Amino acid sequence: MPTIQSAREDFPILSRTIHDKPLIYFDNAATTQKPRAVVEKIVNGYYDVNANVHRGVHFLSQLATEAHENARKTVQGFLNARRSHEIVLTRGTTEAINLVASSFADACMSAGDEVIVSVMEHHSNIVPWQLQAARKGITLKVIPMNDRGELDMEAYRELFSERTRLVSVTHVSNVLGTVNPVKEIIGEAHRRDVPVLIDGAQAVPHIRVDVQDLDADFYAFSAHKIYGPTGIGVLYGKEEWLDRIPPYQGGGEMIATVSFEQTTFNELPYKFEAGTPDYIGSTALAEALNYVSRLGIEAIAAHEHELLQYAVKGLQSIEGIRFFGQSEKKSSVVSFLVGDIHHYDMGMLLDRLGIAVRTGHHCAQPLMQRLGIEGTVRASFAFYNTKAEVETFVESVERVLKMFDK
Ligand code: PLP
Repeated sequence: MPTIQSAREDFPILSRTIHDKPLIYFDNAATTQKPRAVVEKIVNGYYDVNANVHRGVHFLSQLATEAHENARKTVQGFLNARRSHEIVLTRGTTEAINLVASSFADACMSAGDEVIVSVMEHHSNIVPWQLQAARKGITLKVIPMNDRGELDMEAYRELFSERTRLVSVTHVSNVLGTVNPVKEIIGEAHRRDVPVLIDGAQAVPHIRVDVQDLDADFYAFSAHKIYGPTGIGVLYGKEEWLDRIPPYQGGGEMIATVSFEQTTFNELPYKFEAGTPDYIGSTALAEALNYVSRLGIEAIAAHEHELLQYAVKGLQSIEGIRFFGQSEKKSSVVSFLVGDIHHYDMGMLLDRLGIAVRTGHHCAQPLMQRLGIEGTVRASFAFYNTKAEVETFVESVERVLKMFDK
């Protein structure tokens, strides 16, 4: 049974060096490292059970199909979805949102209709809607935030009109760390009969998500941000909505019958899964979710919160530091700038000291415009990070400042 303290040993990459310094990996919001169990699942999947899934009568195909469908059930359990066919496997959060944007707009939107998003969205939850805006003549309305990085709920309520067809907001901001009150956001929308999509890319790795309790209509996340592989992710959708909207892509698997005259579509979730699925990736995703469940998401959250507080405490004595995102409810992300030092310079010099942080606009340029900056330095923590690493990080930021004579 892994514990937070012992789990670090499950991640071989964490013991490597970078520029002759021990790696301190604080870029977890971009992607997380993978435990041995996940990597082995992939390797053993290809060595032992590789065969294309569904429709195969032979032993290996059935074994691979069973593993793939069991993985779907693991995701169902993790999100507490009511039915396993409400779990659509996608390439990631981005594809999941594009799927909803395209299919929902086709079925339920026409020129003049409106989608509400927030000012702190990742480009993945802005551009798919803009593509539909150009195609269908729909409009985006934007929930503003206060200076702490919290959504303005009063303004949100005022954005609704009789043309509002969907609300699409992030659960947790990848820049500010803000944990948005999504249950309340969904409740407000439902009172007006408007469905809600939640971008859960930054939430699922850090907090318990129960899609039934939230009453989300759609919920998206990516495996690679929760210790799973790249190239696979999840769209949860309520059965009633998945039934209502048309397929996103055409191809094998998503059909029931095909003739040149007429094609009929497969049942859920296959209607949305055209082509050979990533049946090895799905089992690795399930392995990652089981790993997180064994550690306990509450234990993960508590440790990460401690790291966050420790980092903020260490950094706040630095003269000229500005933090972005000081919400009451916040996940383990620290975005900051110091004086007039460019975020790239800070990031590059920290890298020379073995510390991986992300710099730039973090795929949230409208948020940067709201903050009046070009980018930030972002340190994001996972359960395998330690207080000792945070101490080294704070000392390293101070060292960088000395290099700039600050
Ligand atoms: N949404 C948020 C809030 C994110 O942080 C990210 C990735 O950084 C995405 C969406 C896109 O995820 P992916 O690139 O895995 O599709």
